[in-house]
Amino acid sequence: MIPTAFEYERATSLDDALAKLAAAGGAGKLVAGGHSLVPLMKLRLSEPAVLIDIAHIPDFAGIREAEGLIEIGAGTTHHDVATSTLLRDRCPMMAEAAALIGDQQVRNRGTLGGSLAHADPAADYPAVMLALDAEFHLKGPGGWRAVRARDFFQGMLTVDLAPDEILARVTFAPVRAAAYAKLHQRASRFAIVGVAAAVDVRDGAIASARVGLTGAASSPSRLKNVEETLAGRSVSPGTVAAATAVAGDGIEDINDDLHASAEYRRAMIRVFTRRALDRALARAAV
Ligand SMILES: Cc1cc2nc3c(=O)[nH]c(=O)nc-3n(C[C@H](O)[C@H](O)[C@H](O)COP(=O)(O)OP(=O)(O)OC[C@H]3O[C@@H](n4cnc5c(N)ncnc54)[C@H](O)[C@@H]3O)c2cc1C
Repeated sequence: MIPTAFEYERATSLDDALAKLAAAGGAGKLVAGGHSLVPLMKLRLSEPAVLIDIAHIPDFAGIREAEGLIEIGAGTTHHDVATSTLLRDRCPMMAEAAALIGDQQVRNRGTLGGSLAHADPAADYPAVMLALDAEFHLKGPGGWRAVRARDFFQGMLTVDLAPDEILARVTFAPVRAAAYAKLHQRASRFAIVGVAAAVDVRDGAIASARVGLTGAASSPSRLKNVEETLAGRSVSPGTVAAATAVAGDGIEDINDDLHASAEYRRAMIRVFTRRALDRALARAAV
């Protein structure tokens, strides 16, 4: 399929991109890696009159640590997240999740910001962002604002990001005791079920846990009942079994499609919650 005709403009800064968006008067779309937007344009599900390329904005990509927080520029590719020595050392779950996205071609072009802004219900990063309690930094005509991951994802392909705003970067406190486990579609590698778990273990007990789910339902979510079951209990197979047993309970809108039935997905939420928790807790032990 061939997209409808569009103008192409290259932004030189965040403010330049915002100005170009405003000038397009609602008919403009940002493009970063193009790996979600271009397929939609080819299907004519998205028909922007102006494409504003943000992939070449200086300092829009990059991973750094400052004042106890990891900061990742929205323009950072999945490949750069996957291969970051800083992330592998300080927050390995983030790098490992990026390494599981699509194939090398997708990882070379696709960006963190594009994935989060698009919010495909089967994307990997949302679960990880929820488990890390990440903060998203957005710039719009009115200036900067910050949104927590738990408030950003609002429903099917719906996020707290206005059409005239740009997601500039993501920050989070690094967690070593965290892991992501996913059952992937064989062709695309999108998540049929993906679970990210981050645990805080002190003196052999789980002080707190955050568990994010993707792929299973219309939008990503925290598994609050799993987190509550884990909190305050000793690290043991029994604790993991008790938490796993309630994983997915209360989620009504489990996806049912050609990749997996709702019943199968519900069963896999438990399996992949256990895998993520086992790996996160093993990391807490070293
Ligand atoms: C074959 C294939 C397999 C894939 N497999 C996986 C997988 O296993 N797991 C997974 O998670 N994903 C997968 N993806 C999706 C991939 O990760 C995309 O790269 C990603 O979803 C979009 O990032 P992008 O930079 O390409 O965004 P684009 O396509 O450029 O943009 C997507 C949307 O986000 C907006 N946007 C982009 N950047 C910003 C920004 N900084 N601020 C505000 N809005 C912005 C655009 O306007 C557009 O609406 C796959 C894609 C393909 C084609």
